[in-house]
Amino acid sequence: MSDVNTEHTWVDTFNESLMRTMGQPLALLTHGRGAFVWDENEKEYLDFLAGIAVNSLGHAHPVVVEAVTRQVSTLAHVSNYFSTRPQLELAERLKRITGAGPAGRAYFCNSGAEANEAAFKLARLNTRGGRSTIVSLKNSFHGRTMGSLALTGKREMQEPFEPLPGGVIHIDSTIEALEATIDDSVAALFLEPIKGEAGVIDLPEGYLQRARELTEQHGVLLILDEIQTGIGRTGRWFAYELAGIKPDAVTIAKGMAGGVPIGSLVTFGWASDLFQRGMHGSTFGGNPLATATANAVLEEIESAGLIDNAERKGVLLRDRIAALNSPLIDEIRGHGLLIGLGLSEPIALKLSAAAMDAGLIINAANESSIRMAPPLIIRELEVDIFITRFSAALTAVGFPPQPPTPEA
Ligand SMILES: *Cc1c(COP(=O)(O)O)cnc(C)c1O
Repeated sequence: MSDVNTEHTWVDTFNESLMRTMGQPLALLTHGRGAFVWDENEKEYLDFLAGIAVNSLGHAHPVVVEAVTRQVSTLAHVSNYFSTRPQLELAERLKRITGAGPAGRAYFCNSGAEANEAAFKLARLNTRGGRSTIVSLKNSFHGRTMGSLALTGKREMQEPFEPLPGGVIHIDSTIEALEATIDDSVAALFLEPIKGEAGVIDLPEGYLQRARELTEQHGVLLILDEIQTGIGRTGRWFAYELAGIKPDAVTIAKGMAGGVPIGSLVTFGWASDLFQRGMHGSTFGGNPLATATANAVLEEIESAGLIDNAERKGVLLRDRIAALNSPLIDEIRGHGLLIGLGLSEPIALKLSAAAMDAGLIINAANESSIRMAPPLIIRELEVDIFITRFSAALTAVGFPPQPPTPEA
């Protein structure tokens, strides 16, 4: 940065030199610890977004620091002509925690979109009986690369980049639409168990169970995108456990290595036999730095009981938010520590800005939804601080907490 002119701020540099892909940043962050981050003016924020469900262990967690430091000082990268112990260990670990078991297989890449690209190619390989259609949901989000964008159910994101890979149809998120669509011409059904980017929108009751029945009946791959919902976030390793089902494949990324980029496609049963050698690959995918860090993060989630913590703190947060009795909050969605608030007025941006002022990071997923995904390590202390700062934000936008409504 050439700060010859002292009037030239970081915002100016951002606007001049960063590609105009994303909106303007909310702050310039310099460091973090646990569930807190600080900006360049040393203002503290409670981070209830965690890099959008990425920083599972919060910021600067000693387990992550140690894993990265140890691995980078021995082997960071080796190419796919070689394997390493961390890579093998992570593949075995993923087979165990997904429930894919001995017939499972793991493919490694570097992001969520790449995991869905791999899953898209997997879907193309399910050609039995000439089937080819891929089914996805309206208002879903699966990533920004061309294949994952083709899966994404948002026309306004797709239009500037057409033509996209073909053969994908988007249906309503109802059991009726599912029953009308799934037949022997379908190769794969892609689903987010909870639609994260859409504002933490739950599927209808019984939807995943019905999707499992129909896909099994018709030889359709059930591919679950657990990039946002996975890795303990919903109080289970994966959200499909809440529905008591197993998919044919699951894509994972975000929270897997606590902030180090990694993604994975894990296949179950017959889906593990579709890819043949030489059909797919990634230079960085499965490198020892990312896989060693993922092993350390997943080990810590397990040994520190953080999945159980996500469930319990999720319940506590939902109870405490409901008890605020603010007329702005219509609905509390999601599960565990993936929390969506449906607002009675379209002022989510105003509310999240007021929260920033109060020292709290929450996300306006759209104009009437707030999304929160705090790190899995939060304690009651952070819940208390959240309630204080969130109450201040609600008051600032004119919808303060109210005394409890008397029983009717
Ligand atoms: C974030 C996300 C993606 C895309 O992941 P990237 O790492 O940004 O490519 C895909 N699917 C879901 C459900 C996500 O939440």
